[in-house]
Amino acid sequence: MENNKNYTLGSKLQMKKKHPCGGDTWTVTRLGADIKIKCLTCGREVFIPRIELNKKIKKVLEGDK
Ligand SMILES: [Zn+2]
Repeated sequence: MENNKNYTLGSKLQMKKKHPCGGDTWTVTRLGADIKIKCLTCGREVFIPRIELNKKIKKVLEGDK
């Protein structure tokens, strides 16, 4: 199984689907049962359950430590 879903605070995530603003890259701003991510294109922040987020991530770009 490909292990490319390791992210932490500050990780940049590329999503499968584009945000309505046109961006597809987000950064992790809070960890917990729900993860808070911020769109790097429009600055919008959203909470998303970890299990949902894992399904939406295309690739972890950086910050994978
Ligand atoms: Zn956006």
